[in-house]
Amino acid sequence: MKIVVVGGGSAGWITASYIKNNLDCELTVISGDEKPIVGVGESTTPAILKMVTNLPSWKIDSCATLKLGIKFENWYRGDSVWYHLFEDAKKIDGIDSIEYLRNKYPNITSEEFNFFHGNFLFYCKNNVEKPFNNSIPGYGYHVQSDKLGFALKNSISDYKLYTQDVDHVILNEKGIDYLILNNGEKIYADIYFDCSGFKRKLIGEMTTWNSYDDMIANRYIVGKINKNNRPYTVSRALKNGWMWEIDTQNRTNAGFVYCSDIISDEQAMNESGLFYDSKKFDSGKMKDIAIKNCISNGLAQSFIEPLEATSAEFYQTVAKYAWDHIEFGASKKDVNNELRKEAKRIETFILWHYQNGSKFETPFWDYAKSLSFSVDDEFKEMLSFSRQHNQMELSKSEALYSQWAPLCFNNWDSV
Ligand SMILES: Cc1cc2nc3c(=O)[nH]c(=O)nc-3n(C[C@H](O)[C@H](O)[C@H](O)COP(=O)(O)OP(=O)(O)OC[C@H]3O[C@@H](n4cnc5c(N)ncnc54)[C@H](O)[C@@H]3O)c2cc1C
Repeated sequence: MKIVVVGGGSAGWITASYIKNNLDCELTVISGDEKPIVGVGESTTPAILKMVTNLPSWKIDSCATLKLGIKFENWYRGDSVWYHLFEDAKKIDGIDSIEYLRNKYPNITSEEFNFFHGNFLFYCKNNVEKPFNNSIPGYGYHVQSDKLGFALKNSISDYKLYTQDVDHVILNEKGIDYLILNNGEKIYADIYFDCSGFKRKLIGEMTTWNSYDDMIANRYIVGKINKNNRPYTVSRALKNGWMWEIDTQNRTNAGFVYCSDIISDEQAMNESGLFYDSKKFDSGKMKDIAIKNCISNGLAQSFIEPLEATSAEFYQTVAKYAWDHIEFGASKKDVNNELRKEAKRIETFILWHYQNGSKFETPFWDYAKSLSFSVDDEFKEMLSFSRQHNQMELSKSEALYSQWAPLCFNNWDSV
């Protein structure tokens, strides 16, 4: 079987490596030489470990640093600060997590240390064997997204790489007949993956993009700030948006997410102190992720603002469903339905954050709180479950709403 992946950003290489490692196929990757759009630090979830465990040098290659969770500042009421953890990490890289934290983060504040440590003790004390999902440890990594792509690229062999752009997509009744590169070469395949980012070069010819009309933020600005070394992502609410800080090995990246209807780019620069690059984004999704012989992944299939750093894990999920379709015949209808449901869960969880606003009473946060917010039965059940049980009971639950366990619901709900 011939598979083509168009796009050499992190989604392209996540897809290519997943497919090549799980499917007997002839793989071609076509990656224009344009730089990936978001070359800043990316925050991930524990699912990243499934992808990289067997790659000996991936941490160095992608400048990876430990991520135990997200520190939220200024969200909700008052000056609240809290940490949203994945779950307890008993061992990190095979080393006792307390020892690891002490050695690796000598400057961590006692408040931070106690929090992570306390969490560890909580699980030990209550004899909770494996709190949530058996296969997932309690930590992820921060990476540099472009470099993660290169690390994954180095993990596969026996594939063909073109560094040209796809100029034309020729369609037939089956979907894509062939691609024409900018050197005139024609490329044929059985399945075409579109990982061309916001350009949506292939899938855009076959189906339409639906913007989420309930998302407030539509622009971001990035920059570098003083180098820091923290085992968590920072998400700080500001007057007119929120800001992330991600420490990778060689630099600390920051970004500010805001709404261009409320402030200008210049105001965003002043508010955040970031001056590097300001860009528009459109939160939404393709009507179909898989259509005919084309499957999209990455920014080409959906984008939801980065508040919970859900993208990389979602790309892995898309690659897995695509594999189910190609290898085991799962129908495109089922694949689309399941992925749509998953995207909806992520959207709901993020909107929930906005519903509760921040400590600022500004037009941005007033607007955020007024956004339409309807939840599905699954969400209602998780919330009510998290309200009816104590922490220990919650920690034993294996239930998940997308990437979030009942304890996360409780965490947010009780702030
Ligand atoms: C503000 C913001 C913050 C984010 N934060 C996080 C985060 O914390 N955690 C997280 O997991 N994700 C995050 N993301 C998402 C993350 O940045 C993307 O996952 C990442 O950029 C990879 O996207 P991609 O590979 O789909 O697209 P891109 O990085 O845009 O790559 C597209 C690739 O397609 C190629 N291409 C385009 N057109 C053609 C063509 N015609 N022919 C051939 N090749 C072509 C380009 O050269 C490029 O290699 C964030 C995104 C944004 C916008």
